[in-house]
Amino acid sequence: MEFVDLRSDTVTQPTPEMREAMATAEVGDDVYGDDPTVNRLEALAAEMLGKEAAIFVPSGTMGNLLALLVHCQRGDEAIVGDHSHIYLNEAGGMAALGGIQPCPIPNRDDGTLALEDILASIRTEDVHHPITRLICLENTQNVCGGVPLTVEYTRRVGELARRNNLSLHIDGARIFNSAVAQNVSVKDLVEPADSVMFCLSKGLASPVGSMLVGTHKFIARARHLRKMLGGGMRQAGILAAAGIISLEQMTKRLGEDHARAKALADGLRQVKGVEVDAGSPSTNMVYFNLLDEVTLSVDQIIDKMKKRGVLVDWAAPRRFRLVTHYWVDDAGVEKAISAFREVLG
Ligand SMILES: *Cc1c(COP(=O)(O)O)cnc(C)c1O
Repeated sequence: MEFVDLRSDTVTQPTPEMREAMATAEVGDDVYGDDPTVNRLEALAAEMLGKEAAIFVPSGTMGNLLALLVHCQRGDEAIVGDHSHIYLNEAGGMAALGGIQPCPIPNRDDGTLALEDILASIRTEDVHHPITRLICLENTQNVCGGVPLTVEYTRRVGELARRNNLSLHIDGARIFNSAVAQNVSVKDLVEPADSVMFCLSKGLASPVGSMLVGTHKFIARARHLRKMLGGGMRQAGILAAAGIISLEQMTKRLGEDHARAKALADGLRQVKGVEVDAGSPSTNMVYFNLLDEVTLSVDQIIDKMKKRGVLVDWAAPRRFRLVTHYWVDDAGVEKAISAFREVLG
């Protein structure tokens, strides 16, 4: 059976064009700086994000960890959203490997951290206190609904960071989804940030990899730490070749995923027992809750959907997150809506 896979945009297979580019990529030993394809990808990423330099890393988790390790010393504190991927879903790496203490503050429904909350959580100079070094934002904010943070909001956080001698890191795993949804340039969106991580391996459909961007000095330090973490890769141009296609082509088509997410949400709003979040979707994620009248468990629903050729995953005990991507077409959206109608009807 051919499955419509709505579990995540991480399931995206490389496109035929990517496979071709990977097979024919010119490569070298990237630890020597000798891989021309990796070098091209890094230059392209830096240029597109409007930063001095970039480094190719195996995962978004490693990219975020490197940023934390460069910005913070052991015992320092980083302000993070309590719904952020860095805080919830990176295996406590900042604490375990960096000795960095997270200072979690509430993510509001729109994905932002309140400026007052950020200000209030900055430590005063006191022998008892850790030193606050860093603010981390997530754009789009996944758990809050795949919501995009605006240029204006990011500028205000950037100003607050500078006034207080802090750095600003953006976990921009889906920063291109954010830029496309708001019709703004990704450069403007990340201009206030000292560093940005984004993923090639999600909606941009590369098989592996993420980018970390920042100043030359920041990236040089990240390169040293990447080696320390075991992330120095050799003929990584095989992977970077796909990444170049992600940046040059796949960034331009994300609007299609957003339109399909909207069609999916509109369809699901007509299905009994489903309550789609107000305002969902903002980008490529549809979140919905099950009403009390639904007696099936999420696991039973997942199983019944699978039997109908649709893969879905739960976000909480009575809550689903569906994600559209390159390999979900209009027919796939229709199939998913019909399957939910059958299973819940
Ligand atoms: C996926 C994701 C990451 C981490 O990326 P991996 O490549 O899975 O390690 C970081 N932040 C957010 C918001 C993500 O969605």
